Amino acid sequence: MKRDTSSELLARAELCIPGGVNSPVRAFRGVGGTPVFFAAGDGAWLTDVDGNRYVDYVGAWGPMLQGHAFNPVVDAVRDRALSGLGFGAPSEVEVDLAEAIVERFPSIDKVRMVNSGTEATMTAIRLARAHTGRDLIVKFKGCYHGHADAFLAQAGSGLLTLGLPDSPGVPQDTAKHTMTLPYNDAAAAREAFDRHGDRIAGMIVEPVAGNMGCVPPAAGYLETLRTLASDAGAILIFDEVITGFRVHPGGAQTRYGVTPDLTTLGKAIGGGLPVGALGGRDELMDQLAPLGSVYQAGTLSGNPLTMSAGLAMIGSLDEAFYGTLATTTERLARGIEDCGRNHNLAVTVNRVCGMLSVFFTSGRVGNFDDVAEADVDHYRRFFHAMLDANVYLAPSAYETVFVSGAHGNAEVEHTLDAVDRAFAGLATS
Ligand SMILES: *Cc1c(COP(=O)(O)O)cnc(C)c1O
Repeated sequence: MKRDTSSELLARAELCIPGGVNSPVRAFRGVGGTPVFFAAGDGAWLTDVDGNRYVDYVGAWGPMLQGHAFNPVVDAVRDRALSGLGFGAPSEVEVDLAEAIVERFPSIDKVRMVNSGTEATMTAIRLARAHTGRDLIVKFKGCYHGHADAFLAQAGSGLLTLGLPDSPGVPQDTAKHTMTLPYNDAAAAREAFDRHGDRIAGMIVEPVAGNMGCVPPAAGYLETLRTLASDAGAILIFDEVITGFRVHPGGAQTRYGVTPDLTTLGKAIGGGLPVGALGGRDELMDQLAPLGSVYQAGTLSGNPLTMSAGLAMIGSLDEAFYGTLATTTERLARGIEDCGRNHNLAVTVNRVCGMLSVFFTSGRVGNFDDVAEADVDHYRRFFHAMLDANVYLAPSAYETVFVSGAHGNAEVEHTLDAVDRAFAGLATS
């Protein structure tokens, strides 16, 4: 398959953009090779700048719940743009989208719009710290919450020691306020709260992890986190930037029946435009400026184009959509498992409605250490075999396959056929 134009564009990009990309995972460092430059998207398909077409399972990393160039979203953005792109002052569509979110998330009375998931999580921990008067934040290995300093911390040598910077430029003084625990490990969380509960401001977690591949919560795990946070007077933050509107209209919190204090949203609620949001009950949200003293602001926050896109997206997500999304996800997951059995390959497929991951390992995958056991070289070869068979997967073994409402029978069959051939190649080498 020829991708010469992508290569030429990358050469140009590398001269004026660090690494040629505006977000690192796009650079294909996890799989090798040259990033594909895309020209257009339509439903479940992407067309690259050389004219090759691919079934897309990245979905812009989550927002494209209805596939690309989804008519209602495109129409809403086009109509809105004709009346001006933004005012830096309130507009009705901000209220419409806020109401749509509040209506679907029982834990959210009020919601503040921001421009990215990173801004949402950053504000969430500021609010947790202000509310509790404590500094310590608990997060989980393999979960991702954006690129703010507080989240770029890793576990110290011992499980319960101070956090260490995970990137140059993050002060030790900042990292030491972040404790990193293993995901899906209730005993580790209990021990952390036993020892440090009275210092913990908040605990932030992806209720279904989507940034180490898809790793669903173990039975009872989210309930345990809820109890630990409540007993310690700490704020429980569900980072639903991926799961919000994907695994259930009311997010993972509704799907699993566990109520967080604060929720961060993003991706899907902007319909593909830059967005983030932070929501929770009145008592907490009213501490944000201008009602309260916790400062947070944004020139482009609540941008009418984004709000219109998000509103059109959310408005399209009916019961039939979720039924189809769940069925398509399960068909793909079972199909991939069958291919694994047929070719005698060790494959574990995790999935939750709209999200799935293929791990080249025979064991259960429940946390980051399990993910790290999987064969990354197999993923690299699998990725390129799929790419050459016109299927675009995430260019990293640690990302999720995002299914959309636009993926139908033809796409599922095309994909499983490609998986079968890719697995055959892996099995014989
Ligand atoms: C993508 C993501 C973020 C960060 O959102 P950005 O818009 O990229 O800043 C935060 N949390 C989770 C769970 C995400 O998947």
